[in-house]
Amino acid sequence: MDKPISTNSVKHRQSAHDKLELSADTMVNLASAVFNATQESIVVTERNGTIVAVNPAFSAITGFSAAEIVGKSMRTLQSGRQGRAFYREMWDQVSRSGYWQGEIWNRRKNGEAYPALLTISSVPSGLGQPTYYVGISADLSRIKRSELKLDRLAHHDELTGLPNRRLLKARLDQALARAVREGETGAVVFVDLDRFKLVNDSLGHSAGDELLTLVAKRLRNGLRAGDFLARFGGDEFIVLLEQTSGERAASVAAHLINRLGEPFVLSTGDEIFSGASVGISLFPRDGTSSEEVLQHADAALYQAKSAGRSTYRHYSSDLTRHANIRLALDSQLRRALSRNELVLNYQPLVTLADRRVFGVEALIRWNDPSRGVIPPAEFLPVAEETGLIVAIGNWVLDEACTQMQAWQSQGLALSRVAVNISARQFRHPEFAASVARALRRAGLAGEHLELEITEGTLMDHDATTLATLEALKALGVRLAVDDFGTGYSSLAYLKKLPVDTLKIDRSFVTDIGTDPASAAIATAIIGLGRCLGLEVLAEGIQSESQHAALLAGGCALGQGHLFARPVAPDAVPGLPGLRRRRAAQGGTRRVPACEACPAPE
Ligand code: C2E
Ligand code: MG
Ligand code: MG
Repeated sequence: MDKPISTNSVKHRQSAHDKLELSADTMVNLASAVFNATQESIVVTERNGTIVAVNPAFSAITGFSAAEIVGKSMRTLQSGRQGRAFYREMWDQVSRSGYWQGEIWNRRKNGEAYPALLTISSVPSGLGQPTYYVGISADLSRIKRSELKLDRLAHHDELTGLPNRRLLKARLDQALARAVREGETGAVVFVDLDRFKLVNDSLGHSAGDELLTLVAKRLRNGLRAGDFLARFGGDEFIVLLEQTSGERAASVAAHLINRLGEPFVLSTGDEIFSGASVGISLFPRDGTSSEEVLQHADAALYQAKSAGRSTYRHYSSDLTRHANIRLALDSQLRRALSRNELVLNYQPLVTLADRRVFGVEALIRWNDPSRGVIPPAEFLPVAEETGLIVAIGNWVLDEACTQMQAWQSQGLALSRVAVNISARQFRHPEFAASVARALRRAGLAGEHLELEITEGTLMDHDATTLATLEALKALGVRLAVDDFGTGYSSLAYLKKLPVDTLKIDRSFVTDIGTDPASAAIATAIIGLGRCLGLEVLAEGIQSESQHAALLAGGCALGQGHLFARPVAPDAVPGLPGLRRRRAAQGGTRRVPACEACPAPE
């Protein structure tokens, strides 16, 4: 039977404790079990550092069995990574306080050093003198490894293994502070691939990834060991040069452009010519914050791209002014679009033999309430750059098709309206769909619409542009190559692409009477058109002599101030040379193919 509860609670607790107290034997057994089972390594040494006992975890971590290590000195485990002073301090503290804890590098039996979190305690003997030391330690190498991995992931780009934007920013901040303090110059060299998008779009993302990896390697090998290279994002790479000069940065840029101009061969066997453009900004001259320096290198890169790619440009403060103007223009232009300030004028297209108007070209103008009429050359480049051109281009298509349909129903003998298409607009995946929509909304047949595309846009084609061309052909839309002769046409492609008209660029027409080379080019284009069964139209005819020379050379169609300037839509029905449909049919006969040449495909 239980004893009655005593009023003396102390006594009661005491008796409970007595019940839990373990026998000396049990304690020894338990300590031994803990010693053997724990995951931490335990070493017991004498005062002089001679090892007297180790547990199985110690053997698992270090590779030394108990038999191998007992009797040896603790020095056997030293990695050599810490100097004497470290150990002296450690033992001083142990003898003073009986305790030390810290990180230490030890050595495994195979010679590998590893980090450990070590706690040393002294075990006092009965006389108050420490007899044994017990070292308990945990192997930190796995934790360290994941710490390192985490750091790598946070600061490096997974694909190329290069430092990422975050690490670049940290390094640039340091470099900037140093350059200011030491009165030195540093440079940010901003590298951007010229044709990466084309590779990605035509060969797929894995080809794009492989190209980026090859580019990263080639860049790294083209730099000195101390130069810092990072992937900024997409196909953009940044080289950070310290203690440098504008000249050295320029020569690094030229060298990298050369290297990236060489072809890359992918594992699929595809050979790729990527090319690169580079923008350079110097610090602290061009900026005192990393954001500013990077932004200015980007502005310089933009200049390099506009200058025709595969080249480099230094930043100059004019560029910022330029960029600000661009930005302001972009927002004004967005407003202009929503406030209907954009208008189309139409310039007649005529048959040279009888000056009959058979069609018109739609040309955009910006009717700004305060600045008056602004020509397209002043705002389209910005729209192209910001992407607003797609919305503007769609508006032009809608407007021109609707207007053309109205003229058709008035019975005007206009067989086509020509609409200029920008490169970016043409490459937009929805382009063919927006042409189809514009025709449908206006109720206009596709054959009455001719799209003018520049040579460069047409030649720089890939699978998407070919699909677009096919979709346009299916709509019955005509295709003209604008400013022909100024780009880099491949005649072989010209034969394959579904082109209907070549427009001889104004520059050749202007000089036709004075410059034999221009005359020869115009004649060659006319001949080419005849061979391929294409119409040829000469742009910018201003004088009777130009008109006569073109007629004599066999050119059937033209356009220019000699016949008419671009006019507002309501002036079109009254144009001299434009007849009503019943009086004459449109003059868009195909030029008969040249008998000496093969028929077009
Ligand atoms: P373009 O397509 O080559 O258009 C012909 C340009 O030459 C027009 O300039 C026209 O006014 C001008 N022109 C025509 N005949 C003569 C002449 O006898 N002498 C001279 N000196 N010039 C003549 P505009 O209207 O300033 O357009 C310039 C360029 O802007 C166009 O060149 C075209 O590339 C682009 N553009 C115009 N409207 C649009 C549009 O709606 N969308 C797109 N994407 N581009 C457009
Ligand atoms: Mg044009
Ligand atoms: Mg033109």
